[in-house]
Amino acid sequence: MSRLANQHGAVNLGQGFPDFPGPSFLKAAAKAAVDADLNQYAVSHGAPRLRAAIASTWNEQYGMDIDPEREVTVTSGATEAIFDAVQALVAPGDEIVVFEPFYDSYLPSAIMANASLRVVTLRPPDWSFDPQEAAEAFGPRTRVLLLNTPHNPTGKVFTRDELATLAELCQQWDVVAVTDEVYERIVFDSAEHLPLATLSGMWDRTLTINSTGKTFSMTGWKVGYAIGPASLTAPLRAVHQFVTFASATPFQEAMATALERAPELDYYSELSREYHRRRDALKSVLDAANLPALTVSGAYFLMSDVSHLGFETDVAFCRWLTTDIGVAAVPPSASIPPALRCWRASALPNVMRRSSSRRSAWRSCRS
Ligand code: PMP
Repeated sequence: MSRLANQHGAVNLGQGFPDFPGPSFLKAAAKAAVDADLNQYAVSHGAPRLRAAIASTWNEQYGMDIDPEREVTVTSGATEAIFDAVQALVAPGDEIVVFEPFYDSYLPSAIMANASLRVVTLRPPDWSFDPQEAAEAFGPRTRVLLLNTPHNPTGKVFTRDELATLAELCQQWDVVAVTDEVYERIVFDSAEHLPLATLSGMWDRTLTINSTGKTFSMTGWKVGYAIGPASLTAPLRAVHQFVTFASATPFQEAMATALERAPELDYYSELSREYHRRRDALKSVLDAANLPALTVSGAYFLMSDVSHLGFETDVAFCRWLTTDIGVAAVPPSASIPPALRCWRASALPNVMRRSSSRRSAWRSCRS
């Protein structure tokens, strides 16, 4: 869609990153770190100052004591942490429960671990899920629940009750939760973001993944992190060491400054207020254009109902919007990658459960 937008000179609303400059104090901190010659490899699992800042943020927000030495790992963005977690925790033939639509890296991460996905569907208009469907997705081969809240691309923020249902299933089936909480700081109205790890009985079985790139609008700096008990952090670090070894040192130092200074600068409230304003502005434009926007409680995506317009698919609508109207958007089926579409449309689940056939099945779907 970005390519098409460029070809047609369209306004691109389909790119998942901020279009405004990042905070000046943060840019100054990165420049200072480079000038101070903090240019060599960081400690593999993260610069000590950044890990300490991450741990104290959790203490302030959720009242939890986190040990930065054993329970925090810095990665090259949340995407790497998700990949590492899946490789670390899942064995060939295991199953991962996810909610669709889902962030595009989840499926390749599963495939590279020779695992398969069990999918639970979030349904509009409120993006709720059927608890029975969720219960049926769990089973003896389930190893991981991969949960994203606030959710890309629906803007759903999982409620306490929904999280409690999932916590119960994780405990019943002895499943580890890997939670992707990169939009933690972008929540609207009365919605409240709650990490699954803070629910009773969940700390010991949860890796919480986040991205300072999202929180501080510096996605290209690729500084993410994972928080979790030492028993889950150790295997994650073992993978991280040989995937990227360490994330960029000056940006880690700058992100430490960001986390340390954000509260005194009222940064988080300002971030949320600013996205709130942008959401309301775009929503009113879409509503007026007969593209009614669905409720969005968090993250920076907005979904519109286009079913009444007579397009055969969301892709056809988005193409037309880009080429004829000059505005690019993302068709949500992009969050259901080709392999999954094949999987849902055919008898592929059986093939995909056999680890040796899985890679070739995926390749043939893509071709
Ligand atoms: N998870 C979700 C749900 C996302 O939307 C994104 C970015 N689009 C990421 C993870 C990736 O975060 P990072 O840039 O830190 O790798």
